[in-house]
Amino acid sequence: MMENSNSELLAKIADLKKRRNAIFLVHNYQLGEVQDIADFIGDSLELSQQAARTDADVIVFCGVRFMAETASIICPDKVVLLPDLHAGCPMADMITAQRLREKKKMHPEATVVCYVNSSAAVKAESDICCTSANAVRIVEKLPSDEEIIFIPDQYLGNYVATKTGRNMILWPGFCPTHTRIQAPDISRQKKEHPKAKALVHPECRPEVIALADEVLSTGGMIRFARDSNTEEIIVGTEIGIIHRLRKENPGKRFIPVSEQAICPRMKLITLESVLWSLENMTHRIKIPTRTRLKAKAAVDKMLEG
Ligand code: SF4
Repeated sequence: MMENSNSELLAKIADLKKRRNAIFLVHNYQLGEVQDIADFIGDSLELSQQAARTDADVIVFCGVRFMAETASIICPDKVVLLPDLHAGCPMADMITAQRLREKKKMHPEATVVCYVNSSAAVKAESDICCTSANAVRIVEKLPSDEEIIFIPDQYLGNYVATKTGRNMILWPGFCPTHTRIQAPDISRQKKEHPKAKALVHPECRPEVIALADEVLSTGGMIRFARDSNTEEIIVGTEIGIIHRLRKENPGKRFIPVSEQAICPRMKLITLESVLWSLENMTHRIKIPTRTRLKAKAAVDKMLEG
């Protein structure tokens, strides 16, 4: 392909998007240039809700694979495209359906609460899905004597256990990007910016969470930045979100806790890959019906919660 200037590229994308009747759902961690072409930008829960609502024929999911799978679970009649098949979530790969079945055999009475960062096959083996935005609410609703297996993120699970007082069986998964954020990083930023509020994502380590003013999903961070009077905000999550925070709040200052908090898989989606995706209608994400129906039961509870 000949080299395009951004404006040529953007014009081609806009033209194809119209012809295909497509919508761009874009996660808060995407590259700034991809965020800027979004029809809707948000966290996993918000993007799933948008997928459920859209009347477009094609959903181009600018995020990682489990997000496109979730959209396909919710909207089986739509074409769901993931512009780069290598855009997978390493945390989601830390559990398989087979290993979960083995765990369930050891705890036959347990309810499986599954973070949305998981494959469709793992969701199909689970009872309820959740996102970081509603995990506490979902667990709180379960009867207090219920045995709970929480998968796959041990840190989100630990945070939910702390908030709800529930004793949960945790899977040892983690997000390699959020665990790069260390307690000394947040201590240093708080010392350098004493008036700032520190927001962190619940995928962070407990010692990082302990130093935060607020523990929020990315959607929660966006709302906090918009609604609070705080002028300076320390941001403890993947740094792609800083683009949106600055764009929507030009008068405020946003300081990443760590410049190392970059998810390489999220950054695989580019304007070029979005264009190729629309040109070739690739890569289609489709879930086999049996798996889809089982996973949908768990995802529907997430959307209700
Ligand atoms: S930031 Fe972490 S949880 Fe999110 S997609 Fe990347 S590796 Fe997965």
